[in-house]
Formats: sequence, structure tokens, C-alpha cells
Amino acid sequence: MREHSNESARPEGALIDRFQRRVTYLRISVTDRCDLRCVYCMSEDVKFIPRAGLLSLEEIVQVGRNFVDLGVNKIRITGGEPLHRRDILKVFRELGELEGLRELTLTTNGTQLPRFAHDLHAAGVNRINVSLDTLQAERFRALTRNGKIEQVMAGLDAAQQAGIPRIKLNTVVLKNRNHDEVQDLVGFAIERGFDISFIEEMPLGVVGDHDRAECFYSSDQIRSDLARHFELIPTAESTGGPSRYFRIAGVDDTRVGFISPHSHNFCDHCNRVRMTCEGRLLLCLGQEHSVDLRRVVRANPGDDEALKRAIVSAMEIKPRGHDFDLHGQPVIFRHMNHTGG
Ligand code: SAM
Ligand code: SF4
Repeated sequence: MREHSNESARPEGALIDRFQRRVTYLRISVTDRCDLRCVYCMSEDVKFIPRAGLLSLEEIVQVGRNFVDLGVNKIRITGGEPLHRRDILKVFRELGELEGLRELTLTTNGTQLPRFAHDLHAAGVNRINVSLDTLQAERFRALTRNGKIEQVMAGLDAAQQAGIPRIKLNTVVLKNRNHDEVQDLVGFAIERGFDISFIEEMPLGVVGDHDRAECFYSSDQIRSDLARHFELIPTAESTGGPSRYFRIAGVDDTRVGFISPHSHNFCDHCNRVRMTCEGRLLLCLGQEHSVDLRRVVRANPGDDEALKRAIVSAMEIKPRGHDFDLHGQPVIFRHMNHTGG
């Protein structure tokens, strides 16, 4: 932790940081494990955290509930692959009951949705993000180091059949691996009535398999590729996350978003914090400032006030922003599956 408080104009109880940004959005990583090994997310010989180090399901719910008491109105469950955590529906069901929570969402690779889509919707999940970087089976296998695209397609079908109203595709674009597919992916999103967000790769952890600077493909490049086929109309719409959205002329149901940590830094409007699967509260995706909530929860069993105090005081160390650098050594040694995307 590198910064210390020097300003404190915060109404009591509210989660407002030193730069007057209000935190209303919590992302919780519930596991670092996954059935896929996406090349930008993990190294091939990834080592997972011993299970005893993970927050229990009860502890996850306790943290979520206290954040909601403090004004958080949106929680995203992520990972790793969240649907691989045993009994994870319990977390969705309990968080879904909280008054004050406006939105409970999920980011998933989709492979387990045939099993879970119905129960997730019943628990109050109305919006999900499903990661899909390509429509080509061979490419999918290469990008995920052995995944089967049919499983994701079956997951998307299941989510629609279960009646989940908003589904967004998340696509990480890498030069020479899938950048030539952005038009096809938008076409697929339109055909199915999905939103789609294109994400610039972030340098989180050493991944081994490719040079991140060489693979960089900016949101502006994607936009100009798409502009040859679609008329993109800027909108001020937001889903409370970092995407900048565009509508497509003549298309009602699909928005195209861009998450551009390199080319269009979004830190000034940051409203989110993340909790890793070990209970480390990260105040910024691209910095190491953190508070160990697992220690607080375990040292004070059942004491919500101690937990709230720790959360409120964590706002003091939320940094102004990230400083990702694709060309130097990674400054963040956590991988995305650990952090929660
Ligand atoms: N397993 C789930 C999935 O793939 O959707 C949830 C966890 S995953 C870490 C969350 C999101 O982070 C995914 O959309 C994934 O594509 C994205 N992601 C992973 N590593 C990334 C990186 N280095 N840069 C940018 N996005 C990344
Ligand atoms: Fe698994 Fe998601 Fe990471 Fe891919 S991006 S390896 S699906 S956690």
C-alpha cells in the first residue's frame, strides 16, 4: 500500500474515495480455477490457490451484504470460472435476496450455463457476460488451450432459453489471433440480440505464450474496422462498468462496447472495487493497493461492524488510476483469473 489519506470529506458510511468517486459496484472473484486456459489470462502451468485459502461461500455473502449496506448496488460474480465453484448457487440466491442490490450479474466462459442458466435467472440474475473471442472452433481451441466452442454455444442457447434478458459477449482482441473476426462477432451478436464489448488485453501476470505488446490491437483500430461495415453511433449509455457504448444504425437490440484501459483510460469515473477469491479487496485492477478482508472476517467472526469499518477505511487507499505499460515488465503479478475480470 503506497498512499495515505490526506483528504476526508466523506459523508458517514458512504463509500467515497479521496478523489470524490463513489463506489457502487463490487466484483467478487469466487474461485481462481477454470476449465479453460485462455492465453491472455493464465499461464499454461498455472498453480491454483489451496482451497483453505479461499473465502467460504458464507464469508463471500457476508462481505457482499456489508457492501450493499454501505451503498453498493451492483455486484458481479466472476473468477476464474465462477460456475465451477461448488454450491455457488447459494451465493447467488442469498445475494439476490438483498434489498438495495439493484443488479446481480455474472461473468462466465459459458461452458456450464446449460446446467445453471435456469437457476441463475430464478435467483435474480438478469444480465450476464459471456466471454467469446472467436466463432471458429479451431481458433477457440487455440486461444483457450483446448476448449470446445460447442459448449459455449450451448451455454448461450441455454441462457436465452432460460429467459435471461440481457446477454453481453466479452471479446479480448489480439492482433493476428482474432482481430480479423470483429465484424463476424458483431454480426453474430446482432443475429442473437446480444450486446458485445471488445476488450484491450491488460498486462496482468506473466502468461508465457505471446508478447503482449506485439498482440496489442486498440479499440480505435477495431472501431475503424467495424466502421467499414456498420454505422456506429456514439451513446452516453452505461451499464455501470468501464465500456463506452455505440449503437448500430438500423439495429435495436445490440450495443457495441469498448473497454480500453490503454487507449481511453477510464479511471476518472471508476466506481468499482474487486475482491479476490482469497478475500483481498483490490482498490484498483491495475495497482496493488489492497486490504485483507479475509483476515478481518476471520479475526472478528460475525462482526459486521468491524467488517464495515475495514471497507470504509479502504476507500482511503483507492488510487487515482492504473498505469499499465505493455512494453515494460508486468507491474502486476496477479493473473486475471485470480483477480476477477
Ligand atoms: N471465466 C470467466 C470468463 O472468462 O468470462 C470469468 C473470469 S475472466 C478472468 C473475466 C474476463 O476477463 C473475461 O471476459 C476475460 O476475457 C477477461 N480477461 C482475462 N484476462 C484478461 C487480460 N489479460 N486482459 C483483458 N481481459 C482479460
Ligand atoms: Fe478461464 Fe475466464 Fe481466464 Fe479464460 S478468461 S482462462 S475462461 S478465467
